[in-house]
Amino acid sequence: AFLEQIEALNPTLNVFLAVDAESALAQARAIDARRAAGEDLGPLAGVPIGVKDNFCTTDFPTTCGSKMLDGWIPPYDSTVVTRLREAGLIIVGKTNMDEFAMGSSTETSYFGATRNPWDTDRIPGGSGGGSSAAVSSYMVPIAVGSDTGGSIRQPGSVTGTIGVKPTYGGVSRYGLVAMASSLDQPGPVARTTEDAALLQQIIGGYDPHDSASINQPVPDLLTASQADDLAGVRIGIVTEFQGEGYEPGVLERFREAVEVLRAAGAEIVEVSCPAFAYALPAYYLIQPAELSSNLARFDGMRYGLRAGDDGSTSAEQVMNLSREEGFGREAKRRIIIGTYALSAGYYDAYYGSAQKVRSLIQQDFDNAFGQVDVLISPTTPTVAFKIGERTADPMSMYLADLCTIPSNMAGNASASFPAGLSEGLPVGLQVMAPPMEDARLYRVGGVLE
Ligand code: GLN
Repeated sequence: AFLEQIEALNPTLNVFLAVDAESALAQARAIDARRAAGEDLGPLAGVPIGVKDNFCTTDFPTTCGSKMLDGWIPPYDSTVVTRLREAGLIIVGKTNMDEFAMGSSTETSYFGATRNPWDTDRIPGGSGGGSSAAVSSYMVPIAVGSDTGGSIRQPGSVTGTIGVKPTYGGVSRYGLVAMASSLDQPGPVARTTEDAALLQQIIGGYDPHDSASINQPVPDLLTASQADDLAGVRIGIVTEFQGEGYEPGVLERFREAVEVLRAAGAEIVEVSCPAFAYALPAYYLIQPAELSSNLARFDGMRYGLRAGDDGSTSAEQVMNLSREEGFGREAKRRIIIGTYALSAGYYDAYYGSAQKVRSLIQQDFDNAFGQVDVLISPTTPTVAFKIGERTADPMSMYLADLCTIPSNMAGNASASFPAGLSEGLPVGLQVMAPPMEDARLYRVGGVLE
């Protein structure tokens, strides 16, 4: 049924970059046979799943939505993919994304924009618009994404799906093509909090291949997701994330969600996080700085595209031509910004200052979590915008992640849950919890459901 849905909708929505129906059916039959033979398989064995195209897979190309890696097949599986396979999930295909995960609309993909299933003239969010649109349109029941500044949560918000950014270090980045390494975090995309919990329990947990991986057991997220009250839970509304710049419909759904949480027994207070106002500009120094370093490996020599290699060109010319042809505009913009911010003489003024802001954001979270168990805000200031509406103005595109970026800067757990519709389009509520307290996200999400 899921494969039929993909066949019917993918030509319009452009969600999957690669699908292997035959292999998926063969794997499903193999799982059936093992079950029939009495094998005790896990709860998600046999469930089809979509994987964002920046996770290395040995059986599908891994393009990162870039011409640079068009057709490139990795020599190894990412840890997330290995764990999915071990748990018997069936990877039906790879989902579209903004190039190298830069963007909030999935429009910068070399393979064309993905469309929002709720309104095909609108964006599905980004960078993981493919994974969220896949779940939103019933092409797969669950998917995985990666979140560096909001790329699981913001697409979740605008497609009416659940998107979780686990605690930094909670899910292994091994084999996730690196964008901004101190911010990147894989996580689940799902329709229900229980599904998301089961998925995070499978992909999460210690991995010696990732130097940032936390060596602690994954908390019991499933039980948390099944809670039906919030007695004794203190919830803080972030003062800075409301008011001007937020669509009235988004704020209305937010206020209604607050009342649902209050009715479930939560105590609601307001908490000010003044440094959050500087999270976006600081992110747009730290993120391009790390990106410019990580993307240096795509030089036309080691992976993917090699341009202009006709025997008469020097190695340096081939590198230049490959990078000129292989990267899109946004990738080039950020490589230039990041290289500038890191260059001698500018390092302290830009990268150094941004790191100080990062510490202030961390302190705001520490202070807030001294008073409340979780913080909440709208996930993103607006509903899904129209395709093409923000492509000419990068600053307006960056604003989509205003509320999601602080959690990446601090490394804490954060998720977006559906909070109803505004003029027929989905609105999301963001929940933020201290590091390794991911279970709190699931408890609040379960009550909202
Ligand atoms: N939209 C943000 C950016 O462009 C976040 C991307 C992400 O989380 N991968 O950097």
